[in-house]
Amino acid sequence: MNVFSHPEFDNHEHLSFFCDPETGLKAIVAIHNTSRGPALGGCRMYPYATDEEALRDVLRLSKGMTYKSALANLDLGGGKSVIIGDPRKQKSEALLEAMGKHLESLGGQYIAAEDSGTSVPDLKIMGRHTQNVAGIAERMGFDGKPSNGDPSPATAWGTFIGLKAAVKHQLGRDDLKDLKVAIQGIGNVGFRLAKHLADAGAQLWVYDIFADNMQRAVDELGATPASAEDILYLPVDVVAPCAMGAVLNDDSIPKLKARIVAGAANNLLERADHDQALKDRGILYAPDFAINAGGIIDVFYERTGASPDTVRAHVDAIGDTLKEIFIRSDRSGLPTGTIANELAEERFRKHVAKVESLTERLARVG
Ligand code: NAD
Repeated sequence: MNVFSHPEFDNHEHLSFFCDPETGLKAIVAIHNTSRGPALGGCRMYPYATDEEALRDVLRLSKGMTYKSALANLDLGGGKSVIIGDPRKQKSEALLEAMGKHLESLGGQYIAAEDSGTSVPDLKIMGRHTQNVAGIAERMGFDGKPSNGDPSPATAWGTFIGLKAAVKHQLGRDDLKDLKVAIQGIGNVGFRLAKHLADAGAQLWVYDIFADNMQRAVDELGATPASAEDILYLPVDVVAPCAMGAVLNDDSIPKLKARIVAGAANNLLERADHDQALKDRGILYAPDFAINAGGIIDVFYERTGASPDTVRAHVDAIGDTLKEIFIRSDRSGLPTGTIANELAEERFRKHVAKVESLTERLARVG
């Protein structure tokens, strides 16, 4: 298994492989870049078929976190961790404690939060051995409701704000009354997004692999159930993928009928150039790492401490970032995914330059 010559290796600062035979823990932590601050990113537990698959995922996801945090103007670097194993069968308190000890050994360079396969209670168990976990503090949430630290409500709200920005840009509408939206994945984020949309008067179509998740949206929000085959291709205004990545690909893009794709799932594009394919079809794509940054913003403020209003204002700014991306895309003719990457790199460089000039000034004074 190659590391430094791996296609997804992007001068990552640090990689650690951790094995604890007693608990069955096999984990990889990837720290992509810490120029803006400590690397913060989810700890994913997934039954990867091979070590190579796990390495690829952690390299890609950790780089994505550097971009996501820079684009959201957060003083955070990018990192991610993966635990190789089936969370329904192999997760145990002992394994999570062993992971907590490993996180502690990294000296605060990487801070883990919830991700697919891990939850608030899991992170709390890791937290018995380290301060370097996040998304676990009980406090007043950004929405004025008590929060257990779960970033999903902030992610859903940011996605809602971003979806509204996309509707304004593409359809010239401020209100969402009778807007037709299809949501794939009615989980922690998808259900909350559906609720915000229903409250705003949108008409919803939903699909989830678990019938009870879908039924909840039907019963509580008046949504219409759809099928696995149809959900992305319904004649709606917006498709919101909130389940898994790579759903925008050579097969799906030609079949989309919606004029907007705006959903919370990470890595929606199977390949980077699929943003061009969407643009060629006149479909406005809200880049995933721009629209789903609400959670990382919320977790950042959990560590620094801030009023709910401050968190809310920062999450609301996702709408401004997307507006800027859409306008630049129109002006330059480049697709929105490309523009989002450029803007993240610009914000990253601006921040690093500011820190360097401050360091120089301090050196002169000192
Ligand atoms: P979740 O596990 O709570 O929800 C995902 C839902 O999708 C589940 O209900 C699952 O049954 C369903 N699902 C899985 N495969 C599906 C398929 N093929 N078709 C339809 N439904 C399917 O996860 P979540 O926290 O709601 O996150 C959703 C997405 O948003 C993920 O891609 C996640 O990486 C991303 N995301 C989440 C957050 C957050 O704060 N939770 C932050 C950023 C990005």
